[in-house]
Amino acid sequence: MPLHGVRQGSRFCIGGARELQEREKPVKSAPEYSAPRTLEEVLCQLEGATARSVLLAGGTDLMVEFETGRTRPDRVIDIHRVPELRGIEERSDGLWIGALSTCSDLLASDLVRRRAAILVAAADEVGAEQIKNRATIAGNLGTASPAADLVPVLFALDARVRLASRGGRREMAVSDFLCGYRENRRRTDELIEAVILPPEVVGERHAFRKVGTRRAQSIAKVVVALSLRLVEGRIHDLRAAAGSVAPTTVLLSTLARELEGVRPKPATLEAAARLAVRTDVAPIDDVRSSAAYRREVLYRVCRSMLVELVTDAV
Ligand SMILES: Cc1cc2nc3c(=O)[nH]c(=O)nc-3n(C[C@H](O)[C@H](O)[C@H](O)COP(=O)(O)OP(=O)(O)OC[C@H]3O[C@@H](n4cnc5c(N)ncnc54)[C@H](O)[C@@H]3O)c2cc1C
Repeated sequence: MPLHGVRQGSRFCIGGARELQEREKPVKSAPEYSAPRTLEEVLCQLEGATARSVLLAGGTDLMVEFETGRTRPDRVIDIHRVPELRGIEERSDGLWIGALSTCSDLLASDLVRRRAAILVAAADEVGAEQIKNRATIAGNLGTASPAADLVPVLFALDARVRLASRGGRREMAVSDFLCGYRENRRRTDELIEAVILPPEVVGERHAFRKVGTRRAQSIAKVVVALSLRLVEGRIHDLRAAAGSVAPTTVLLSTLARELEGVRPKPATLEAAARLAVRTDVAPIDDVRSSAAYRREVLYRVCRSMLVELVTDAV
């Protein structure tokens, strides 16, 4: 796959004699490119990485950013062929989803479907087939877009991200990993090795909903994931997360607090959802939607997801 700006390319040429001249010139900003074949090699190379160095996985975000100039790396480390970063398997500490697992891998995995059907639902919402075949779970976290579809699900499931460097491994909650608009807590010498879903909790109920401009292949105006348990008719351990309603994906902590231990009634669910959209989110007006629309849609989506999940207790 040719990388824009990595090698001298025709897009830097204007035409005729100028084109020939330009072709002779080295592209000063061309980054260093490498494609290591093992995790150990990647970690060695990351020791010399700077804040401008990037890891290239599926490239669905980065190739666009190289083209627009949003990202101008000094170095591109292409990890796409590193086998240790692939694979989905049940381990003692939870369901291990290798960093390079694509949306298509999530859709094809019986393990993921059984353990976290909402992650499959979210993966199914990401772009068209071509994008699903390349877009990775780590790339979704790496870009840290507030509109990312997989991220609210990972928040709601209390997933952890496992970071690897030559210095060792560390893990943190995905909800702590994302720390601002397109920002995360990865150090320059680290990469995401895997995402880990915690061991299954009996009786957990999940829901996912994305609202976009159209039914398929759209960027989210609002995206929500929810997880809760119903014990003897009362709501427990609710975790809800929303995207496209703040600079980063947010946990709806007010919703969780208001509904903990509560016997669900339509009026209680509505009041909690209303309060959450007033306090937990900070939507903006942009090309896709207005802040007021996002708040109202988030309220309605939360309310209907809650009713769906606890319908046998309402
Ligand atoms: C046409 C189109 C439609 C799209 N539709 C959607 C959509 O509906 N929903 C949605 O959520 N997204 C969508 N996207 C965005 C994109 O596909 C996702 O964010 C995808 O998950 C990115 O994964 P990637 O492997 O392609 O990442 P890349 O582009 O390779 O990388 C993205 C970022 O993650 C970092 N990164 C990658 N792997 C690692 C790692 N292992 N460790 C640390 N950092 C890493 C990179 O350095 C980079 O900063 C769309 C993109 C396009 C072009």
